[in-house]
Amino acid sequence: MSTLRFQAVKETFKRKPVSVSETERRSSLFGKNVFNKQAMRQYLTKESFKSVIDAIEKGLKIDRKIADQISTGMKEWAISKGATHYTHWFQPLTGTTAEKHDAFFETLEDGTAIEKFGGGQLVQQEPDASSFPNGGIRNTFEARGYTAWDPTSPAFIYGTTLCIPTVFVAYTGEALDNKTPLLRSLQVLDQAATAVVNYFDKSVTKTIATLGWEQEYFLIDKSLAKSRPDITLTGRTLLGHASAKGQQLDDHYFGSIPTRVLNYMRDLETECMLLGIPVKTRHNEVAPNQFELAPIFEEANLAVDHNSLLMDIMNKVADRHHFKVLLHEKPFAGINGSGKHNNWSLSTNTGVNLLSPGSTPMKNLQFLTFFINTIKAVYEYEELVRASFASAGNDHRLGANEAPPAIISVFIGSQLTNVLNELEKVTNGKLSPEEKTDLKLNVVGKIPEILLDNTDRNRTSPFAFTGNKFELRAVGSSANCANPMTVLNSIVAKQLLDFKEKVDSLITEKKMKKDDAIFNVLREYIKDSKKIRFEGDGYGKAWEKEAEKRGLSNKKSTPEALKAKISKKTIALYEELEIMSKVEIEARYEIKVEEYTMRIQIEGRVLGDIARNHIIPTAIKYQNRLINNVKGLKDIYGKNFKKYAGEQMELIKQISNHIEKINKGITEMINERKKANKTEDIEKRAALYCNKVKPFFEEIRYHCDKLELLVDDELWPLTKYRELLFTR
Ligand code: ADP
Ligand code: MG
Repeated sequence: MSTLRFQAVKETFKRKPVSVSETERRSSLFGKNVFNKQAMRQYLTKESFKSVIDAIEKGLKIDRKIADQISTGMKEWAISKGATHYTHWFQPLTGTTAEKHDAFFETLEDGTAIEKFGGGQLVQQEPDASSFPNGGIRNTFEARGYTAWDPTSPAFIYGTTLCIPTVFVAYTGEALDNKTPLLRSLQVLDQAATAVVNYFDKSVTKTIATLGWEQEYFLIDKSLAKSRPDITLTGRTLLGHASAKGQQLDDHYFGSIPTRVLNYMRDLETECMLLGIPVKTRHNEVAPNQFELAPIFEEANLAVDHNSLLMDIMNKVADRHHFKVLLHEKPFAGINGSGKHNNWSLSTNTGVNLLSPGSTPMKNLQFLTFFINTIKAVYEYEELVRASFASAGNDHRLGANEAPPAIISVFIGSQLTNVLNELEKVTNGKLSPEEKTDLKLNVVGKIPEILLDNTDRNRTSPFAFTGNKFELRAVGSSANCANPMTVLNSIVAKQLLDFKEKVDSLITEKKMKKDDAIFNVLREYIKDSKKIRFEGDGYGKAWEKEAEKRGLSNKKSTPEALKAKISKKTIALYEELEIMSKVEIEARYEIKVEEYTMRIQIEGRVLGDIARNHIIPTAIKYQNRLINNVKGLKDIYGKNFKKYAGEQMELIKQISNHIEKINKGITEMINERKKANKTEDIEKRAALYCNKVKPFFEEIRYHCDKLELLVDDELWPLTKYRELLFTR
């Protein structure tokens, strides 16, 4: 075994579970390091407490003087918890999180020092942000960006640092982060949805979107991960022959969690509890060494922050346990990849889940209104929804018979399909009293509060209704949920605004009763959006054909899918709702396109390096052994040597063949990379990387993996799949 691989595997034998003690109840740990309402009540004046709450609940501005009071209270609280530094914590367009720490420390003229943290420092900070991706915004406009406090997501302490969730914007006002558009979309959605809820319930004054994500991930031993340059540099294996045993026995899914992993999970959960991340569920996933973590759902902005924070903490805690977390969508070929289901719903300030059927016909009409409008929104903007989770990593999953296809469709189950079929028959125009009674009693009134047939859940659907929420299943495991959530909020907001306008016009112009108007518009929407509904097998070839007939898009690669982000329709949507300007939209598109190109470029370089500098030399070394062996046999047996050396000679030939194919593949791939790199147009460059460079990956890998099967195990330089996947 090569030294690096040998050492790495040997290291794993020494691993013992890191002991974690759980002495306190989870509930007593929860939110201990969060500047939540309880902490605020204790550390803030009445006036400043009220001001923060108004900012959270009503979106009111916080006065600068009051900000000084808040910062003082926040500092006292943070110092009492051992914090020495503070940072504005934000989500730049890299999709990860960023922070720049400053100490609570200021020197005085008399040579002494104090702990200081003023309102100004709470509200605004200037990170040296020139190297965050900005899609040209900063070159064109303003060289600097600043971060500004988002009071709707509470400050927290991680380690010894007070982290203040913030937005990140250019001085000219353009958003440079993922949070700003999300917050704007939530605001528009609130207004649009509340106006519609008011048809049914006048007491509702606010509607929020809720998100419960389910995070899948792989956990592998740190030393093994380090022994693989591809995992280190790209987060996934670019080659490696399948292990004899993979996931075919289904013995991992929901199985007992290995002790080392369980201790990691407990440690992680404790950290989450302290930070107020309400994690609840943990289990083994389908693939070996694959796991899942899910929280109780929260308001969407907070849930997005919590997921970003979680991904960061997962890495840090893993380090303590000598693990490496792989958040990549497809770390290993031949076994399942990882996703992040986004469970989404709408909830009123009166505590009603608008996507949950109720106990009366009126509540159910309200439910159906939001349910049908959501379906219609997804139908209208299916391409934008598809674009929202497009990434180089996710391209490996979508359509690969383990994750939803690249075609967007909505699954609602047979019970609700029947209801929609009935509603579709509603008379055009005013409803007769008999018809209305019949509808209310026998159709709308008959929707059960618990929808049974959704328990079996069509796993192949990218957007499924699961009883009291929609589940967007196509999001990748490494993604920041902000963009998919921004898209969903925005399209549903737009749809609800249109709905309200239509219903109102039927009421005022056609003198219809409110219920009649609602039934009429819903009927039209059901008809209009029928093509997006699909209850069958989303993995099958038949669906691809059927979807094409229906005119649904099927964008299989990221460069193709991303184009919807800058379509006229998308720009019109975001501009109308004032969620993003054309400049902001185009900047984000550019960043995504370039990110794709860079990822494929890096993968290409790493693969070329491993294949040429690790695999081929190893293959040659083994081939030389064989050659010496053959020579030796010839010495002994003379003319008859072939009888004894036939197998070896065949191997020598096969190895030569694979080496030749690998070399040829790499040379051609490099040529294609060079051509792509010379292409100025970023869209064309991404397309070249996708269609001309990437196809060589498979070809090169195939021959490397074949060599893995031929070459002496002792010589093989790369840690093998069976070692990566079955050591824990
Ligand atoms: P499972 O899909 O594993 O059977 P659940 O249906 O209970 O589990 O929930 C899956 C995820 O959906 C969890 O993260 C949960 O918090 C989230 N969820 C449940 N209800 C809602 C809701 N109203 N809004 C958003 N997310 C929700
Ligand atoms: Mg799920």
